[in-house]
Amino acid sequence: MENFILNLSYLIASVGFIVGLKMLGSPKTARKGNLIAAFGMAMAILATLFVYPHTANLNVPTFTYILILVAIVIGTIIGWGIAVKVEMTKMPELVSFFNGMGGATAALIGLLEFHHNIGNPGKMFMIIAGLIIGSISFSGSMIAWGKLSGKLRKPFRLPNYNIINTLLAIAILGIGAYMIIAEVSNPLYIYGLFALALFYGIMFVLPIGGADMPVVISLLNSFTGLAAAFGGFLYNNMAMLTGGILVGSAGTILTIAMTKAMNRSLSAVIFGAFGEGAVEGSGSKIQGSIKEAGPSDAAILLNYANKVIIVPGYGLAVAQAQHVLHELEELLTKKGIDVKYAIHPVAGRMPGHMNVLLAEANVDYDKLIDMDDINNEFKNTDVVLVVGANDVVNPAAKNDPSSPIYGMPILNVEEAKNIIVNKRSMKPGYAGIENELFYNPKTSMLFGDAKAALTKVVQELKGM
Ligand code: NDP
Repeated sequence: MENFILNLSYLIASVGFIVGLKMLGSPKTARKGNLIAAFGMAMAILATLFVYPHTANLNVPTFTYILILVAIVIGTIIGWGIAVKVEMTKMPELVSFFNGMGGATAALIGLLEFHHNIGNPGKMFMIIAGLIIGSISFSGSMIAWGKLSGKLRKPFRLPNYNIINTLLAIAILGIGAYMIIAEVSNPLYIYGLFALALFYGIMFVLPIGGADMPVVISLLNSFTGLAAAFGGFLYNNMAMLTGGILVGSAGTILTIAMTKAMNRSLSAVIFGAFGEGAVEGSGSKIQGSIKEAGPSDAAILLNYANKVIIVPGYGLAVAQAQHVLHELEELLTKKGIDVKYAIHPVAGRMPGHMNVLLAEANVDYDKLIDMDDINNEFKNTDVVLVVGANDVVNPAAKNDPSSPIYGMPILNVEEAKNIIVNKRSMKPGYAGIENELFYNPKTSMLFGDAKAALTKVVQELKGM
């Protein structure tokens, strides 16, 4: 009977994960999907705590339950507190941080279970694989967290870092294999392996440059899922296995999507095949003058357009201007103007950042058009309004082979008849490079914080 209840609970939990994940595919259902997946997770935790001990004839002391409960309460308070307070702009680094915590948990399983499984090569394989991948995911995510929060802006590359990293990876795999084959029981090995894998995670993410970060973040995501899946195998826990596989495969699909979006191969990102010259701050120096526009000039241009494309970027999130941007879009639509949003896959600081941001302002999902579907429309567009985007509209990606983002597909903004770019200054974006779009004779720079500038444009438009 207990076995039946346990399996049923795990089945319901797994279905919850799958349905939840499916619902995350659209902003309309994402909130509910999140709750369904969380319900599945709660079910899996409760079944493991209260049903599993009966099926395995384990006598769990009450004190152990108290310790687990205290840990859950502390974790819930911290997690809840951070999630409620976090600003939208800090969301990407929070996601990276939470991902790292998942990796750390998987690695700690390895440290705890090592002693109980010496002489069992099958289980030792799960333990060592989970420990290595989880540790890399933890330390790598912490570096990614630093890079996303701006604390570690420049990529750090030791001379011959590729060779060092490759040797380190071979050493880690070699020690892991030796531990399994030779049935090593000395705990120094597992702690040494843990330390080496942590070090590798740092060395692996540190050299990766600005514009390649989306690929690394999704790769680390899939690592955490994989590490958790090894834990599921180890404990023969179906819910943990399903959850791990789902995160691992979703992360892998995202990694493939991101490498496609950047037009990079995974090995080029990890080993920096053409990253050597692609250091932030490089690229050609641009000469020329810029044309400034005020809110009323921008409003006039927009008012007399038939077709407008809005290009949102990271600055929209910084300014929290999504609501006023939506107001502007509705105002233009009421005037009979065709308005769409062009969504670049790596705009912002996390995959899907712009979709989440605009969904928060209730922008109609059908108006968000992916880069590949909208890129042909720019040439027939009267006005493109770029709000806080920079790298994703930088023509250097097409024209300048010395640029770090050369080869990355970008939005063909420069093909439109008129371009309005809103940002606060001439400072570069995440990749740290100048943007010749700002010097294009068709471009008018609308300087200022996006929220303040767009509010003024809306006021002007209302008076027209
Ligand atoms: P960028 O970082 O290229 O540019 C953002 C621009 O927004 C800046 O130039 C800044 O200029 C402007 N800005 C900042 N604050 C404001 C404000 N309050 N009001 C108006 N403008 C503002 O962003 P993009 O979205 O174009 O490109 C994303 C970049 O981030 C890519 O290089 C991508 O590779 C990288 N990245 C993406 C991740 C992802 O998963 N999506 C993850 C990690 C990195 P100014 O200071 O002058 O205002």
